[in-house]
Amino acid sequence: MTTLITNIGSLLTNDPELGTLTNAAIVLEGDRVAWVGSDLSAPAADERVDAEGRAVIPGFVDSHSHLVFAGDRTAEFNARMSGKAYTAGGIRTTVAATRAASDEQLDANIRRYFDEMLRQGTTTVEVKSGYGLTVADEARALRIAAAHTQETTYLGAHVVAPEFADAPAAYVELVTGEMLDACAPHARYVDVFCERGAFDGDQARAILTAGVARGLTPRVHANQLTQGPGVQLAVELGAASADHCTHLSDEDVKALADAHATTVATLLPGAEFSTRAVYPDARRLIDAGATVALSTDCNPGSSFTSSMPFCIAVAVRDMGMTPDEAVVAATLGGARALRRTDVGHLAPGARADLAMLDAPSHVHLAYRPGVPLVSAVWQGGARVC
Ligand SMILES: [Zn+2]
Repeated sequence: MTTLITNIGSLLTNDPELGTLTNAAIVLEGDRVAWVGSDLSAPAADERVDAEGRAVIPGFVDSHSHLVFAGDRTAEFNARMSGKAYTAGGIRTTVAATRAASDEQLDANIRRYFDEMLRQGTTTVEVKSGYGLTVADEARALRIAAAHTQETTYLGAHVVAPEFADAPAAYVELVTGEMLDACAPHARYVDVFCERGAFDGDQARAILTAGVARGLTPRVHANQLTQGPGVQLAVELGAASADHCTHLSDEDVKALADAHATTVATLLPGAEFSTRAVYPDARRLIDAGATVALSTDCNPGSSFTSSMPFCIAVAVRDMGMTPDEAVVAATLGGARALRRTDVGHLAPGARADLAMLDAPSHVHLAYRPGVPLVSAVWQGGARVC
């Protein structure tokens, strides 16, 4: 089964040779891209879709989300927007609700947000655990997530579990021992919230190296609230990404620039938006030579958006990114943060994951903030909305 999408006004391929094509066409065959080029030379296909001059982009790759959760933190958000500061402790509210939820409730929740993301053009999603914080609840979270995505991350080290409030060392022992044993079979990555109030540099190192020894790839919640050791640790351990990167020293920026092919700086502007905090300086990272990804950080506490177009608009408006850079960071950047070479671009052989915009160019994602521009989405070659 082949599908020809013709009359594409602007086709962002993220391919260094193909670039952005105008008056373009693309052919999908099975779950792959079979052909990309000029409308005039497009081959025939079983099915033909007229894009009527609309833009087509690779599906967004959302490389950082926390979608296995239950409950609601409207009151906390409301309080924060009325002048109270955000602290990492709010996570424990969601932990209690998540533990109390049934498997079916957690599964229905993740389904709901995956659908929401798909409608906004996101075709690949990474999901973390981190709201269970017991051996059974963390393993359950990853099992449920793994039914929906291959990009699953063990985040038993989100915060110290409430039962271990007075014994953080014993919790680290659990996270690097029995909990890791139960979670590793369902996870591809290991992550830690390296931050004041969560885990310090030594604890984070112990957790990440234990995960690596079990075959997991490290990624780090780094330098979100303070200028801590997270970024340096991520680079030193060859992590796939250092996520947040909001408070960076010159040495941190240099380390991310030097590690540009290994460790991606993943920026999560939804978190700063929803906590009324200062945004990360994407311009500084890009000018230094770092590889940058954009992601939603979708979670019920600090960033309850599932919208990559929203993150793109904020990144362009407030983080110094050009529209091109922001859309590339939300597609190819996310793919690099997940070490995926089959998504985030649209060249022959790539996965047929793409979004059509009700706009002539991907620049409209920033130019028309808050407008639902995604008009059609293909995932693995199938039109899903
Ligand atoms: Zn996060």
